[in-house]
Amino acid sequence: MLKRLNLQIEGIVQGVGFRPFIFSLAREHGVSGWVLNSSRGVEIEIEGAEEALNNFLSQVKNNPPPLSRILSILQKEIPLIGDKTFAIHESKSLADRVPFISPDTDVCDDCLRELFDPADRRYRYPFINCTNCGPRFTIIKDIPYDRDKTTMQSFTLCPECEQEYHDPLNRRFHAQPIGCWQCGPRLMLLNERGGEIKAADPVQETIALLLQGSILAVKGLGGFHLAVDATSEEAVLRLRSRKLREEKPFAIMVRDIERARQVCLISPQEEEILTSKLKPILLLKKRPGHGIAESVAPRNQFFGIMLPYTPVHHLLLKSRFDALVMTSANITDEPITKDNQESLERLQGIADYFLMHNRDIHVRADDSIVRTAAGKLSILRRSRGMVPLSLPLIEDGLEVLACGAELKNTICFTKGKVAFLSQYIGDMESVAADRIFLESIEHLKNILQVAPEVIAYDLHPDYRATRYALEQSYSRAVGVQHHFAHVAGCLAEHGVDGPAIGVAFDGTGYGDDGAIWGSEFFTFDYSHYKRRAHFAYVPMPGGDAAAKEPYRMAISYLYRTFKEKLSGLNLPLLQKYSDRVQPFMTMIDRGINSPLTSSCGRLFDAVSSLAGLRDVMTFEGQAPMELEMAIDEPHDLVYTYQVAAQAAGPDFIISFEPMIAAIIDDVLQGKTASYISCRFHNTVAQVIADICGRLRVKEGIKLVALSGGVFQNLYLLTRSVDLLRSKGFTVLTHEQVPTNDGGISLGQAVIARRAYKI
Ligand code: ZN
Ligand code: ZN
Ligand code: FE
Repeated sequence: MLKRLNLQIEGIVQGVGFRPFIFSLAREHGVSGWVLNSSRGVEIEIEGAEEALNNFLSQVKNNPPPLSRILSILQKEIPLIGDKTFAIHESKSLADRVPFISPDTDVCDDCLRELFDPADRRYRYPFINCTNCGPRFTIIKDIPYDRDKTTMQSFTLCPECEQEYHDPLNRRFHAQPIGCWQCGPRLMLLNERGGEIKAADPVQETIALLLQGSILAVKGLGGFHLAVDATSEEAVLRLRSRKLREEKPFAIMVRDIERARQVCLISPQEEEILTSKLKPILLLKKRPGHGIAESVAPRNQFFGIMLPYTPVHHLLLKSRFDALVMTSANITDEPITKDNQESLERLQGIADYFLMHNRDIHVRADDSIVRTAAGKLSILRRSRGMVPLSLPLIEDGLEVLACGAELKNTICFTKGKVAFLSQYIGDMESVAADRIFLESIEHLKNILQVAPEVIAYDLHPDYRATRYALEQSYSRAVGVQHHFAHVAGCLAEHGVDGPAIGVAFDGTGYGDDGAIWGSEFFTFDYSHYKRRAHFAYVPMPGGDAAAKEPYRMAISYLYRTFKEKLSGLNLPLLQKYSDRVQPFMTMIDRGINSPLTSSCGRLFDAVSSLAGLRDVMTFEGQAPMELEMAIDEPHDLVYTYQVAAQAAGPDFIISFEPMIAAIIDDVLQGKTASYISCRFHNTVAQVIADICGRLRVKEGIKLVALSGGVFQNLYLLTRSVDLLRSKGFTVLTHEQVPTNDGGISLGQAVIARRAYKI
């Protein structure tokens, strides 16, 4: 029996080869009708035998083009028309479109084959791409996604490319960024003063320079990398000294999965992530005898490792290098550089040479960083390849702009039933970050076609993002407590509503009592939270300095535990900082520059110092990271802690004096850092399960959301989740957005939306 169907498909279905895919499919199944790009996605009418239509539909659902992402298919039967052919029609008006733009992706297998095929007209062409691969988000200036609204606008297609572009059966049909040796972008090699080095093949010349130990700034998809030979200790050390980066690990790019296996220990799941289209930086355990320079990731058990994802990367790594350091080109924690001139200026004195090209990057995007935790993907930085994928929300509501936090800033927009998180913007302290924050807001507003009516921000009055929000003239503005945003974001990404128990452990967040919070137990839903428990407040002698120098927190915890008896302790730490102990005690007693904190991050800092691991940090999170990595022989022992029930305010206050005293005993008895660290981690996990258990007794809530930067700690996360599950809790952790402050904007957005529910 003949039937005719109308299909409305929403999602990422434009600019990803969807219409040619439908065209071929229709031919294959012998159905007639048409396909076109509509304002909401793709619209199709198909007519044919019922069985043919069913087969056609199941192919659409189960086998769509690699870069597409179908969110919904609306299907209805309509009267027969009797057309004989299948056609691609002109686009309908795109005025009110919900634009779902594809993220940038790595070069596909078909393009890769052509890249290294001497017979192909794009042999070794560094910008080869097609509808299934290549740049997207980072080159789009405006919508609709057409070539003249991307940074490819200045390149006019040659006749051969033009023909491919217009052929519905070609892999490059309507692929906006295509080009070739005749008509597309070109590579160029420049010296440190910006003078072009004439080379027949800039790639070969670059390889030669890298082999000599030079530092190359290499322009990629979302910005510049600084590259050196990762097997050369000398080259890596030179990069460290020029970049003013003492010990923070550098990411490396290895040629292929075989090399990755030689350098790191990889599970089948990790192999899948490493080779996926996303091509993230994946944290993997180093393999003994890896052959990579020690200074790439000193005193670290992991490498941040990725595979080549642009044609240029493949050309560079194909024949000569086992591994290249590929670190975001910037100065310390500033945002990645993207423009040619900007890079020449900002990287002066860092890069020896520049391998750049004349295809502009419109939006910068750092590499995404992930690791696996308890068998799941854990995202540490959500950026290139993930942005601007949408996140589904459980309810419709007003359009919101959420401004994020200070460190690892991202912003978030909501529209209909989805949220869009921006790329990683970074630490907001620099002028450059500030500018990129403003640019990102404008750019995303434009390409996502949002006009937010609500603005959400962190309560910290000194956060740059907060000051921005308060300068705007939104009639609806919502200040969101930092840890409330953390745990609400965790619920939101799982599409779950409260009530829940929220556990937010991190380094710093502004509390609604003006103190610095960071070990918060809430009962909450999207509309409110109640603070139910936290670690006892301790002073941070020196304020911000205490967040960088763990020995200060160690002394603070020691003073709290031992009072005047502190001076009688025969601890190496107290000898090392003997001139600091008395002044700190005085500062604490008199409340001079010693703000109070319940931060879990600062407790980790203190224990890292007490265990003899890290007294002063050279990058954020170093002390807790080294504490976690010290665990080489896990055991199940815990320390003692105290829980005080209160009649008013939060129900429970947790104190660690007994634990600190026991740690000192362990130190004096010569117990290893591994032993102490493991016992400490077990204790924190125990505290989480203990307090959640007490709150369940009071409130009957069994759902727990874990969030905050502390849960980047794999040992703690796994142990806490296991312990809670064994006690019958349902536990949610972050899988789609970072557990660190990169996920804050999502939480702010859903809370602000609920505050102005329509
Ligand atoms: Zn391709
Ligand atoms: Zn061409
Ligand atoms: Fe935080």
